[in-house]
Amino acid sequence: MKRSILLAALLLSKTIFARQPDLVKYVNTLQGTNSSFDLTRGNTYPTVALPFGMNTWTPQTGNNGDGWKYQYTKKTIRGFQQAHQCSSWSNDYAVFSFMPVIGTLQVGEEARATGFSHANETARPDYYRVKLDNAVVTEVTPTERGAHLRFSFPKKQSAFLVLDGYTKLSMVKIIPEERKIIGYVTNGHYRPGNFRNYFVAVFDKPFTAHGTWENRKNTVQAGAAGAEGEGVGAYLQFKDGEQVQVKVASSYISTEQATLNLDRELGSFKTFDDTKRAATNTWNKYLSKVLVEDDSEENKATFYSCFFRASLFSRMFFEYDKDGKPYYYSPYDGKIYYGYMYTDTGFWDTFRAQFPLNTILHPAMHGRYMQALLSAQEQCGWLPAWSFPGEGGSMIGNHAISLLTDAWVKGIRTFDPQKALDAYLHEATNKGPWGPANGRHGWKEYYQLGYVPYPQVGEATAKTLEYAYDDFCGYQLAKAVNAPFHEGIFKKQMYNYRNVFDSTTGFMRGRDAKGNWSPNFDPTEWGGPFTEGAAWHWLWSVFHDVQGLIGLLGGDKAFVTKMDSVFSQPNTFKVGTYGRPIHEMTEMAMANMGQYAHGNQPIQHMIYLYNYAGAPWKSQFHAREVMKRLYNATENGYPGDEDQGQTSSWYVLSALGFYSVCPGTDQYVMGSPLFKKVTITLENGKQLVIKANGNSADNVYIQSALLNGAAYSKNYITHSDIVNGGLLEFTMGAKPQESRGIQKSDRPFSLTPAQ
Ligand code: CA
Repeated sequence: MKRSILLAALLLSKTIFARQPDLVKYVNTLQGTNSSFDLTRGNTYPTVALPFGMNTWTPQTGNNGDGWKYQYTKKTIRGFQQAHQCSSWSNDYAVFSFMPVIGTLQVGEEARATGFSHANETARPDYYRVKLDNAVVTEVTPTERGAHLRFSFPKKQSAFLVLDGYTKLSMVKIIPEERKIIGYVTNGHYRPGNFRNYFVAVFDKPFTAHGTWENRKNTVQAGAAGAEGEGVGAYLQFKDGEQVQVKVASSYISTEQATLNLDRELGSFKTFDDTKRAATNTWNKYLSKVLVEDDSEENKATFYSCFFRASLFSRMFFEYDKDGKPYYYSPYDGKIYYGYMYTDTGFWDTFRAQFPLNTILHPAMHGRYMQALLSAQEQCGWLPAWSFPGEGGSMIGNHAISLLTDAWVKGIRTFDPQKALDAYLHEATNKGPWGPANGRHGWKEYYQLGYVPYPQVGEATAKTLEYAYDDFCGYQLAKAVNAPFHEGIFKKQMYNYRNVFDSTTGFMRGRDAKGNWSPNFDPTEWGGPFTEGAAWHWLWSVFHDVQGLIGLLGGDKAFVTKMDSVFSQPNTFKVGTYGRPIHEMTEMAMANMGQYAHGNQPIQHMIYLYNYAGAPWKSQFHAREVMKRLYNATENGYPGDEDQGQTSSWYVLSALGFYSVCPGTDQYVMGSPLFKKVTITLENGKQLVIKANGNSADNVYIQSALLNGAAYSKNYITHSDIVNGGLLEFTMGAKPQESRGIQKSDRPFSLTPAQ
């Protein structure tokens, strides 16, 4: 009997082991960290976090308040901080940090900074470790709202730990008898006046001394047990040569909730290693949702590093109350509500691929997020466009409707579509106070003229193109739920992209209120009527009506020729209204793929458009080229800003063999699958297996495809084909198969039928 139980247990553990291969080992969180203001290889930091976790942790090489919080080339670390950053450009909020110090106490961030080398660093999502040059070892492992840290001080050395309250108002209270520090920080930009990040840190070793300090003048109050003020922090001393473990968690609601978060997430873990084991399991379970079988370890490393990065945003911004019910502090109005809230994303980036990837892998979360979007609209007065944690309104477009419509057409029914349409109509016919993407910049002119005039409105042509796409999403949702009033309005506007197309130059172009084209047109000139790009990049932003665009450009042949010339043009640029090179220009030049600027969003879908013009093999070729040339798992691993999971999600989807050209439809457009075999395990328990027989670095062309055993000639796959599971099987070859995918019926969705 006992033997059989043992055998069963053994078998069970074997099964569990078999189901959870070690995939987290492939992830390099240093991917993209070799970045600076002038040149970006990702603008990422070595994030320690659980998937979509509320808090992340990172070593800090930059000054307090500097968006470049960790740069690969820096030689010293000055802290280990709780972080939420989306991109170096967005800075951060709710940050505080710990730093171990030996010898005499040094509190100031410059004075305490200590040398390190990458050879002594382990950078994984579940675990970060660095042995500093002074021999202190710091380790961090995450939970969703907290972390477990371990500081190992060298023998006989004095052992200090400095807590830095970062910028703006902060508070600390040291409770030696409980081996605890509680406090709050308030740093951040877009947040209500009562915003507080309450934290609690519990240590496993007693303090031998303590005090407070403040980080503007670096003055120390030895023995003080509490302080409140600008940049206030604390320090602790431990027995010489101590090894100290600290459990830390935070809350936007209260100190009590922070304690509850700590108890719930870390309470059952006795040691750092227990917490680490759980984090490793969480990531391995998570990453095995997409199980890659292939002989290229390098491609697997790139894939899982990108998949990790695609799985951080939007962050949970909710907590569980004592009864386990989700509730949150609203980053919009500063009140407490029951339900879910998510934040930290700019939809201009992430509507394209990051959210469509979530609809495949995390439909339950996406459904909660759509509810949260409408709650945010009620609290803010506007749909979010750039949440960080409140509304920033940065960039352009009203892309919340893209997320909502995409959810609806993919069967997510967690929200009231009429409410979504009303919120979007309000968005599209008003201008909010926060920036160009809060409400609609130039909405009156867009409505009256059918385009946003330039130079009356900055970046007007880019806005026209994205408003037209958003209006298509409004139309799609209205049509799907039988809302004729909204349908009628948006139907009129979704073709407005035509009004900024200049047939004499064959490009989208700036146009004034009288209808005149902007003078001295140069398709390599950035800015002006465009956003972070030039006419070469913005021509393609007609996601919903590619056949209409093909018609404007003179048919399939002319369209394919124009697409080809993106890659054959010289990689030169004119700085235009930017007045100096911005990093996106430099990155396009460095990529050396002509005018193809994958380092920024406007053109990221473009290579998939060959599928709409009878030349799918060209999409296959370029998809593989971009994966090969512009991505890897190193510190130089991205061709530009990573941008809240978007540039990573491009890779994840592309490696699977398709891409979300037009969110708001249920189609993903085909490229070239990177791996021999991928198994996607869906939330509904079904699996989609994608096999690519004969796949190799040379065999990038689809020769034939079978979907569940039946010949499949289409250049797209539908969402239901994916989530219903089954087998998508390709045969790959070294030469284009020019007879596959060339029928009109093989083309992906377009408002205008193929001519
Ligand atoms: Ca960007």
